[in-house]
Amino acid sequence: MATSALDILHRVFGYAGFRGEQQAIIAQVAGGGDALVLMPTGGGKSLCYQIPALLRDGTAIVVSPLIALMQDQVEALRQFGVAAAFLNSSLDARAQSEVERDFAAGRLKLLYVAPERLLSERCLDLIAKTKVALFAIDEAHCVSQWGHDFRPEYRQLTILHERFPDIPRIALTATADAPTRREIVERLNLGGARQFVSSFDRKNILYRVVEKDNSRRQLKDFLGQHQGESGIVYCLSRRKVEETAAWLCEQGIAALPYHAGMDAGTRARNQQRFLREDAIVMCATIAFGMGIDKPDVRFVAHVDLPKSLEGYYQETGRAGRDGLPAEAWMCYGLGDVVTLAQFIAQSESGEERKRVERAKLDALLGYAEISTCRRRHLLAYFGEKAENDNCGNCDNCLSPPVAFDGTELAQKALSCVYRTGQRYGVGHLTNVLRGVDDERVRSLAHDRLSVFGIGAGLDERQWRAIFRQLVANGLLATDADGYGVLRLTQSARGVLRGETRVSLRKPASREERRVTRKAARGERTRQSLDIAPHEAPLWDALRATRARLAREQGVPAYVIFHDATLLEMLRARPRDADELGAISGVGAAKLERYGGAFLDTVREAA
Ligand code: ADP
Ligand code: ZN
Repeated sequence: MATSALDILHRVFGYAGFRGEQQAIIAQVAGGGDALVLMPTGGGKSLCYQIPALLRDGTAIVVSPLIALMQDQVEALRQFGVAAAFLNSSLDARAQSEVERDFAAGRLKLLYVAPERLLSERCLDLIAKTKVALFAIDEAHCVSQWGHDFRPEYRQLTILHERFPDIPRIALTATADAPTRREIVERLNLGGARQFVSSFDRKNILYRVVEKDNSRRQLKDFLGQHQGESGIVYCLSRRKVEETAAWLCEQGIAALPYHAGMDAGTRARNQQRFLREDAIVMCATIAFGMGIDKPDVRFVAHVDLPKSLEGYYQETGRAGRDGLPAEAWMCYGLGDVVTLAQFIAQSESGEERKRVERAKLDALLGYAEISTCRRRHLLAYFGEKAENDNCGNCDNCLSPPVAFDGTELAQKALSCVYRTGQRYGVGHLTNVLRGVDDERVRSLAHDRLSVFGIGAGLDERQWRAIFRQLVANGLLATDADGYGVLRLTQSARGVLRGETRVSLRKPASREERRVTRKAARGERTRQSLDIAPHEAPLWDALRATRARLAREQGVPAYVIFHDATLLEMLRARPRDADELGAISGVGAAKLERYGGAFLDTVREAA
């Protein structure tokens, strides 16, 4: 059994070996057992049902919630030479009956179906009359009411088990948390399924958090490090999405907006362009996301704070599905925390829900301000222990922040909050500390307070950084319904009385910040993929060949070959079909269809 699975992996998909638990999962399902698969985005879930589909008799039915993406998945399979089709509302009656005929005649190995379609009597009848190899339920977390992807039709999928108890089922999701997992098992009646839980670590993603200063300039600098690459820029509001996209376009960057307030046509067109073209920057709210299985998203940037660490991990997880280097970058300031706290306060939710949301915001802030490994922190949040203390691929591991005893500075800041009556935001507090003699300070007579000017040694940015850390450490709280007003918490007392010491991360001075920025610009290569200048001509030629083939068929470029496969071609410079066929991602069907074109490209560039 294992040998034939491996054989399919080699021959059809052109991959050298299985990843993680793929082999065990495939054996379980191909052998007729049920499985629940929890694997991070990019972990390789699709093969877990595609290979059993090829090993078993009959057609595999794949339930997938997003019709927009079924087409690309089916296209990708056809490129590998696998007979696949989809049934959803985008097909006209004629195309639909054609697919149904193929299915009934056993001509399909995989059939992708939207849940509402699958649950129709017509479809269930058809299934009853046809040989079905297995049911794969993709994005299985859609059964969970707590996630933001809840789909009521998913709840009814238990019908599959009731009607067809002998057909194996495999449910897959990238949502890791225990409550969701329990709900999937319960709702889909998967108590007897074997569970396969993979590590959720995304080793190829570099995590970076920067303090917000001039967010447009910071975003532009960041995008400058990712020229020619596809990525997503997440914003909190629709308006900000529109403004950011328009501004980036003015700057000569190919950016598109995406949010739920746009008309469906434009939205679909923008998504399509993002999937099909190279190097589009998608400015989006979180409405853009689930099922974006474009493998070569090289960065995900957050210019506003996400709502929770769960959301952050899902959103950043859309980067680097192909396993190549990718970056998750976040730019945030105390203002974002204030905005989100206000959102929570003003929402219609009940007190209990608000408490949960505030706790999620605190967790996020904790992540943003942490001075140790971010990956370790993220994994711990999801209940997983990191392999190492130092991951070597996050900002804090790459250039560890310097911690110092900040008790005295904390005392100054906290006293300032106290003396001014716990009624002001960080801007005014900083002015008082620095002894800025402005009108507001004078009219409030804050220049006569003992704290006036006691913090003149630090600049405004440094004080902001300290205030942020005090909020993150739970010594200060942002007033939920106010305008960024900071109040002391219970724990602040111990610090003011000198009983508790506070460790802070050293805030960089203006000069130090300038130097770091310059160094960051210089040291990073133009692209994440580290293409050396002498390799650039062949790289561009390979991409051009791929783009041409994709255009001719109206499919996304990555459906022809992934970047990882092109990179291997670039480095191996294959001279004949044998050498080309040995490259990962070049299966028999693709070798036959595209081998000539790519061998020519390599030859001509030599
Ligand atoms: P997921 O659905 O878990 O996000 P995919 O199934 O889309 O992930 O796989 C992610 C990428 O990894 C795809 O480009 C896929 O072709 C590739 N991949 C999956 N398994 C293997 C493997 N065993 N060897 C090489 N590449 C693989
Ligand atoms: Zn790290």
